[in-house]
Amino acid sequence: LFAGQTEFVKGVVAMSGLPAPDRLEVCFAGRSNVGKSSLINALTGRRGLARASNTPGRTQEINFFTAGDAHYLVDLPGYGFANAPVPVVEKWQRLLKQYLSGRQTLRRAFVLIDARHGVKKVDDEILSLLDSAAVTFQVVLTKADKVKDADRAKVLEQVRKALSQHPAAFPEIVVTSSEKGWGIPTLRAII
Ligand code: GDP
Repeated sequence: LFAGQTEFVKGVVAMSGLPAPDRLEVCFAGRSNVGKSSLINALTGRRGLARASNTPGRTQEINFFTAGDAHYLVDLPGYGFANAPVPVVEKWQRLLKQYLSGRQTLRRAFVLIDARHGVKKVDDEILSLLDSAAVTFQVVLTKADKVKDADRAKVLEQVRKALSQHPAAFPEIVVTSSEKGWGIPTLRAII
């Protein structure tokens, strides 16, 4: 599915720019700096495919990548910048809502959560958005190498508790470290 078959297709800033819904896709969402670019790069084995450092001023694009001939991987713009201008946030929320509720070929959203921090308020808002769009989502913990086992267990508990409030949540949580390669084969298999 992934080896050598991942190509950047396009960055989209409005619904009119979406590629034709001619194949199934999964999307990746997460707070900025959660490790989303690193995870996509680790999954696809292509370093630098997804930009590894995003900046607050960056255009809020939905980035489409091919995964083999039959699927898209969709990189949603990072959310939760502390001082992003209100119009930027609103534009992003509008596009995100439209994409999530209108994309028939979207099969699952992976919501990335930092293994050190657990589900924060901004994350929870995205989970509620996914509930209302009836998009099944699965939580992926990132940067697991940065936490001790005991702390990871605590965060997992907090995440499970948060997920119990969300009907669209898929119960299994995937624990990953892009740095160490942990959980990457598992996530590939799920996709
Ligand atoms: P994005 O903004 O969500 O795309 O996040 P990036 O992928 O750019 O990662 C943000 C920062 O976290 C970078 O400094 C990465 O090197 C670091 N990072 C990402 N994944 C991991 C990981 O699995 N382990 C560790 N230790 N650091 C990571």
